[in-house]
Amino acid sequence: MYTDLKDQLTAELAQIQEAGTFKHERVISTPQSNRITAGPLGRDGAEVLNFCANNYLGLADHPDLLAAAKQALDERGFGMASVRFICGTQDLHLELEKKVSAFLSTEDTILFSSCFDANGAVFAPLFGPKDAIISDALNHASLIDGIRLSKAVRYRYRNADLEDLRAQLESTRAQNDGAGARRTIIVTDGVFSMDGYLAPLDGICDLADEFGALVLVDDSHAVGFMGATGAGTPEHFGVSDRIDLYTGTFGKALGGASGGYVSGRGEIVALLRQTGRPYLFSNSLAPSIVAATLAALDLVAGSADLRAALFRNAELFRRRMTEEGFELLEGEHAIVPVMFGDAALAGRIADAMLERGVFVTAFSYPVVPRGKARIRVQLSAAHTEEDVEAAVQAFVASRAAVQN
Ligand SMILES: *Cc1c(COP(=O)(O)O)cnc(C)c1O
Repeated sequence: MYTDLKDQLTAELAQIQEAGTFKHERVISTPQSNRITAGPLGRDGAEVLNFCANNYLGLADHPDLLAAAKQALDERGFGMASVRFICGTQDLHLELEKKVSAFLSTEDTILFSSCFDANGAVFAPLFGPKDAIISDALNHASLIDGIRLSKAVRYRYRNADLEDLRAQLESTRAQNDGAGARRTIIVTDGVFSMDGYLAPLDGICDLADEFGALVLVDDSHAVGFMGATGAGTPEHFGVSDRIDLYTGTFGKALGGASGGYVSGRGEIVALLRQTGRPYLFSNSLAPSIVAATLAALDLVAGSADLRAALFRNAELFRRRMTEEGFELLEGEHAIVPVMFGDAALAGRIADAMLERGVFVTAFSYPVVPRGKARIRVQLSAAHTEEDVEAAVQAFVASRAAVQN
């Protein structure tokens, strides 16, 4: 039985190899940090500067998080061996839900094992065939999948395009024999991860008001560092009180382990506790992760230093790369795309960078549009100014090496 399938899969894998899109994982043998030891599978790693983690605030190996995790291991054990509603809720889970709500200024929060699960949980219980979900074309895969799990009518608007969003909102009026959609929600990433662009949340909220729609923002690439207190892109745009639902991850700026949440309107969160399938049928977050995430939120809420360091590094990198004649996508986010256009060129530059001790990743079609291949650099508060300059110098040297 398996023989035929084995041949088919072997051919499929070979096709991926031939297309040049086969993903090889680098194996890291140190904590995640600005400097890591990493190498190809089966070979010794070398120390490299890391510019491709989502470790925006440098908390992945922060001593406060490690201490909190260790204490939780001692006092609350390793695992819960249960989902939340059976016997998997510790006081720590409730404390983290409260703390996220306070941090985002929302009514309530529900935890998930990941933001992928949060996005998988949030749509199906709220939106059915009479409803409309309007989604940005560049939204994260987990939003796309979560929306698919609902029976709502789906609409898609061009990335960050308010004109097209308006057109989609208008077309929801044809639903239910011209009575219009019963419930309408606009769904967007706060930050688009391939470009570092922010969603135009002020304009989105204006349209939501005009059309009586809800707004959901997945702020995974912003929570903890965008906005004056780190509450994310809605805070950055001054529209926090107009956002009905946030989703987000603890797996990026807030320690980088795992876990996600839906935060926002109290009744919605209450309903998700009763009917959200990844909440009902997947294990509770481990106590050590919950405790360390609480420590991460304390650090973030207690000081603006980490955010300031992150944006200093991002500004420095953008300025120096521009001086050296590289083409960047403009912006303010710590995701800085260095544009090369040609996929093979971007790949060769990334390889040359690694030989020079700087770990970055090239992205090309189909992850980004054809002809828009790039190296996506991600800055961290953990980088020093010297690290940033070393990355710039590696780009300069790699460009020269590849062009010769
Ligand atoms: C990273 C990311 C996720 C996934 O988060 P996990 O907690 O790792 O599942 C979801 N949405 C967006 C926008 C992301 O950037």
